[in-house]
Amino acid sequence: MKRWKMLIGAEGHDARSGKTFERKSPATGEVVGVYPEADGADVAVAIEAARRTFDEGTWPAAPARGRSQILRKLADALRGHADALARSIAEEVGKPIALARGEVLAAADTFDYYGGLALDLHGDAYSQTVPDALGLALREPVGVVGVIIPWNFPLALLSWKLAPALAAGCTVVLKPSHLTPATALETGRLLLEAGLPPGVFNVVTSEAENGAVAGMALVHSPLVDKIAFTGSGATGKKVMAAAAATLKKVSLELGGKSPNVVFADAPLDAAVAGAYSGIFMNTGQVCQAGSRLLVQDTIADAFLDKLVAMIKSKVKLGDPLDPKTNMGPVVSDAQLARVLGYIDQGKQAATLVLGGGRAEDVALAKGLYVAPTVFSGVPADAAIAREEIFGPVLAVQTFVDEAEALRLANDTSYGLAAAVWTQNLSAGLRMSKGIRAGTVWVNAYHGMGLSDQMPYGGFKQSGVGRELGREGLSEYLEWKSVQIKIR
Ligand code: NAD
Repeated sequence: MKRWKMLIGAEGHDARSGKTFERKSPATGEVVGVYPEADGADVAVAIEAARRTFDEGTWPAAPARGRSQILRKLADALRGHADALARSIAEEVGKPIALARGEVLAAADTFDYYGGLALDLHGDAYSQTVPDALGLALREPVGVVGVIIPWNFPLALLSWKLAPALAAGCTVVLKPSHLTPATALETGRLLLEAGLPPGVFNVVTSEAENGAVAGMALVHSPLVDKIAFTGSGATGKKVMAAAAATLKKVSLELGGKSPNVVFADAPLDAAVAGAYSGIFMNTGQVCQAGSRLLVQDTIADAFLDKLVAMIKSKVKLGDPLDPKTNMGPVVSDAQLARVLGYIDQGKQAATLVLGGGRAEDVALAKGLYVAPTVFSGVPADAAIAREEIFGPVLAVQTFVDEAEALRLANDTSYGLAAAVWTQNLSAGLRMSKGIRAGTVWVNAYHGMGLSDQMPYGGFKQSGVGRELGREGLSEYLEWKSVQIKIR
């Protein structure tokens, strides 16, 4: 158990009130971290530090090579501290240690990637429009960014925002989830060691009203130019509405109910493995989880048999720090209640194929473990087919032909991700074009190493704006047009 301080400027800060909150491991119930409980005044101090640092101009005007080097040094430092960081993530999220380590390395790659892009920041020139004028289109950092992130991938999601923000020359105040503040604070320490000037990156911690008090202090502040938010749709709507008062820029990465569509001609074993990892990775607590499995009716029974056999033979629930564990607990009591509530609703609406409650193994009794759960014959209007559960619960539906598959895939208010499994490339392409989602995989789920270079985000109610890739950097830049009269 470690006592942490917030990062404001160059220093660690307690809350002015002296109040703290605890994070307990969802696997054991033991306290793993104690954090300062920031109130609005504490958040204001952090915002002022970020504002002052931005307005002084040293960081936004720093040579791109310097910014790039700091991002790359951080990437190396994350790799060097991967074991300790992975342990923090495993303890606070309940995520299996191997997956946590993969998250740290992925975050390091994202900092490397934006370290490279920092060297390629340039605008445009308009020299042939009219004879006696020159136009310069400049790209400038958007300013002070308030970053609000959830708990499911605390370091990866931090890297998606912090890396492009720093590459662009912005300063940042981050409010991590109260369930997982450790990696953000540790990243702050590593950034200072890597040479980041104090005040560029600040971290406040708070659990009041699930982080809403500190989060809203960022959203309301007139000193903050942009909010970069990842979280649930319900909170995203509140953030967007509140940001309207100061007309801040807002980017939102929200939830999903992503369809995983399997045609009869799919590469079967790969599709079964994709359906498995699509829903059960990180105990189903993944925004892009393939929580709706749509299978062509002619193979549905055989497919489900194979999937259930894989779940039974593969899932190892247990201590997240044990390398043999591949599924941990859900993150919190609230999440447990939510997931079990949906399972109860599922039992009323559909056929329970597997699981259906808390894990029965007595060795797991202290932790918030849920048995991997599968429902078949799920009606399209059932809550478990429409709402994001964010747990290890799969809703299986069947379709007759491609037209019905596409209609079911799009029958959702979300549009974050989707996958299509088929050996018919034309069908795969038709479905990719027809599905209204920000990411579509063909014959894969959860990507294949392309991720941080390609834009990521949601259609419909899954979000506003894009992260990653060059588009992710654009979110932290403003265009400025300079028009010069030539005499
Ligand atoms: P959440 O919306 O409850 O919280 C997200 C963050 O917002 C936390 O830091 C929280 O403290 C803060 N917050 C809560 N209320 C707030 C308010 N009123 N004003 C400002 N900030 C507030 O979500 P969660 O339970 O932490 O995370 C799970 C959700 O995140 C899921 O819906 C998931 O799909 C989504 N998510 C999306 C992506 C993506 O890239 N699209 C990635 C991961 C998670």
